[in-house]
Amino acid sequence: MRILIVGPPGAGKGTQAALLSAELGVAHISTGELFRAHVDRRSELGQKVKQYLDAGALVPDEVTNAMVAQRLTDDVCRAGFLLDGFPRTVGQAEVLENLLRARDCEIDTVLEFDVPEDQVVARLLARGRGDDTEDVIRHRQQLYRQETAPLLSFYAERLVTVPAVGSVPEVTARALHALRTRA
Ligand code: AMP
Repeated sequence: MRILIVGPPGAGKGTQAALLSAELGVAHISTGELFRAHVDRRSELGQKVKQYLDAGALVPDEVTNAMVAQRLTDDVCRAGFLLDGFPRTVGQAEVLENLLRARDCEIDTVLEFDVPEDQVVARLLARGRGDDTEDVIRHRQQLYRQETAPLLSFYAERLVTVPAVGSVPEVTARALHALRTRA
């Protein structure tokens, strides 16, 4: 299974991606986590991207796409994966299509987590990560609406929408059901 997770910041993508990837036996690839790991170990890439993460801005494509290309190893098509946080723009989606085509596969399903905006802001403020201040949250929501939401039409034929309100296990069960009934 080759799955993308799309949804606004605070929809619970990271939590659900970890649970779903374990349940489905595929790798969880999160660009946000890869970037945060670089920032934490102060690698060269980490120093380059820290300012973008702190501001809730998109890391430039040449950096992001190169990191993803390196992470999508040759066996990634066979092994399957769940991508979380990439692509975030239609440009990145086109890059991903090409990377996968070169490895002879494509995304099967795009799982959208749908949640009202007032709920996501409350969840993020409660989470309290370094980039969860109110201004930065607002900026990330705006970027989602402008840059990422167009992916929903880009992937219209592969899109499965899951209401992401309710408890964590309820949402996981709903997502698994949606994936299994679609396959
Ligand atoms: P996330 O963990 O998905 O909320 O991502 C945290 C931060 O990492 C974002 O606010 C961006 O600064 C950066 N980031 C993650 N994924 C991408 C991406 N696909 N393109 C550009 N920046 C990204």
